[in-house]
Amino acid sequence: MVIQDGRIDQIGPATRIDNLISARGARVIEAEGRVVMPGFVDSHTHLVCGPPRLDDYEKRIGGASYQQIAAEGGGIQWTMNAVRKTRAADLEVQARRTLSHMARCGTTTVEAKSGYGYDARAELRLLSVAAALRDGDVEVVPTYLGAHVVPPNFKGTPDEFVDTVGKRFVPRVASLGVARFADVYCDVGAFTLQQARRYLLEAKASGFQLKVHANQFSNIGAVQLATALGAFSADHLEHAGEAEIRALAESDTVATLLPGSVFHLGLTKYAPARALIEGGAAVALATDFNPGSSPTWSMPMILSLACTQMRMTPAEAIVAATFNGACALGMQAKIGSLEVGKWADFLMLEVPDYREIPYHFGGNLVAMTVKRGRTIARQMESE
Ligand SMILES: [Zn+2]
Repeated sequence: MVIQDGRIDQIGPATRIDNLISARGARVIEAEGRVVMPGFVDSHTHLVCGPPRLDDYEKRIGGASYQQIAAEGGGIQWTMNAVRKTRAADLEVQARRTLSHMARCGTTTVEAKSGYGYDARAELRLLSVAAALRDGDVEVVPTYLGAHVVPPNFKGTPDEFVDTVGKRFVPRVASLGVARFADVYCDVGAFTLQQARRYLLEAKASGFQLKVHANQFSNIGAVQLATALGAFSADHLEHAGEAEIRALAESDTVATLLPGSVFHLGLTKYAPARALIEGGAAVALATDFNPGSSPTWSMPMILSLACTQMRMTPAEAIVAATFNGACALGMQAKIGSLEVGKWADFLMLEVPDYREIPYHFGGNLVAMTVKRGRTIARQMESE
């Protein structure tokens, strides 16, 4: 590749590139015997999220379920309280630390959801932290997750909460232009299909593009809601069946799979990746980084889970973690693959064969991460 002003100017065999005028005098990055591939696009994270949920973790090891822990005051509610007590500056420091871990594992673009605020003001505080992170090395794409969990002041009256969010919060967040996407958690224990639909319709009317947390713990029709409304992605899908696979295959909605949360919750039912791919759906992979169900920043670990637990091939997993992730964010014209005109977001790995990336699970083979032509992480002695 020849890289100029952060973009890929030329790409091809070394013999051709070496002879180009534009290559003369260029700084050379020697990559002989190493995999070079597009940077990971982590298209589903809860990046700004406060402290880890270690008590939940131990309770779950002891046998409590995600839902039981939530009912006892743990879970998302616990994080909402913790986030409320944390200064914005400290939330930003925590998120920057996570981003630097992500960069070392090869991530060059990250979607970041709000969703831990009680009201529009608290949500805007989280979105402004996400917006502040945009000046960093890793590109951050903020999403307004306005309907994540019913806050305590609306306990027992979720419809009232959805009305308030739809009529007041959504237009306010939209008018500030701090998030491109709106997302909803549509599942048992979160928002019903009818509530999710009302929220998404308001979000769409306010100019948001849509994403849906769908079919994580049950099948209440969230996938069909996402595809009917033209959502960019339906995420999770552990409980998606044949009808859901067909709906996704017939739509432009990306099926974003999050095997990290299945693994960390100690569950065994992964999303039906093979059936989705063979049925014709576009599958993306993401970390779902969050303090409760998937506290990992490692896309290589997600690739290992995708290959070993969901039987995706290494090549399918890499496409899902790069180009299809970019599609889930509507950014495929700029990132997600190494092509002339796109941003030079790429990785160099210490290995000669890409299949080693998922094969050596739990490790990190990324030697160098480059974002828009600039090295943002490096774990090698020399170039
Ligand atoms: Zn999520």
